[in-house]
Amino acid sequence: MSSAPSTSDGLFDEFLEDRGHETEIVRWERSYNKKQCPECGGLHEESASECRVCGWDPYA
Ligand SMILES: [Zn+2]
Repeated sequence: MSSAPSTSDGLFDEFLEDRGHETEIVRWERSYNKKQCPECGGLHEESASECRVCGWDPYA
């Protein structure tokens, strides 16, 4: 077995892509200096930790 640098780079890219899809973190959207729920689009103050409209939680 020989390890060609080009093949390793390709595998590494695939690895990053797979990890990206699995560990994707959903965060608050931003709209007019307020937090916006990515699920329902509800606007909340900066202090909001979860959506009071649909109950979405960025840490769930
Ligand atoms: Zn919501």
